[in-house]
Amino acid sequence: MNIQNKKIFIWRRISVIILLILLIPFSNACTVFQYQLRPPIVKPHKVETLQVTAYCACGECCGWEYNRFNKPVYSYGPRKGKRKIVGKTVSGIMAHAGTIAADTKLYPMGTIMYIKGYGYGTVEDRGSAIQGKHIDIFFKSHEQAMEWGNQTMEVTIWLPR
Ligand SMILES: [Zn+2]
Repeated sequence: MNIQNKKIFIWRRISVIILLILLIPFSNACTVFQYQLRPPIVKPHKVETLQVTAYCACGECCGWEYNRFNKPVYSYGPRKGKRKIVGKTVSGIMAHAGTIAADTKLYPMGTIMYIKGYGYGTVEDRGSAIQGKHIDIFFKSHEQAMEWGNQTMEVTIWLPR
């Protein structure tokens, strides 16, 4: 091996090492991300049979309608006629795939649940019709929510500390 070839060989090695060092933060980010999505298996959990219904952000699912100024307002209940921010949950964040509405006396905000066929979700919302052992899971479209329908099934629950 002449000196020129040896230099190229060394530089290749150095570039591979640099590449590996650059990849470390990304691999860490992946672990953190997965940790947020899946609760640690060691954390105590319970399995309960719950009625699982589905909702989306639409007026039919969330009890709002357009007023005569074409603005969304609550269509019934104590806030009837008051302005409604479409898709905003009781916890303040916007509903997304994984948002669960529950009776927060039984399952407080931040409770993590695993629902077979839906995946992991977090209690971030409430609903006047969601009482006791009944949860409502959020879907992006009304069609998906209707497709889910009304199922009674075993749900794995991790209560917040
Ligand atoms: Zn809907």
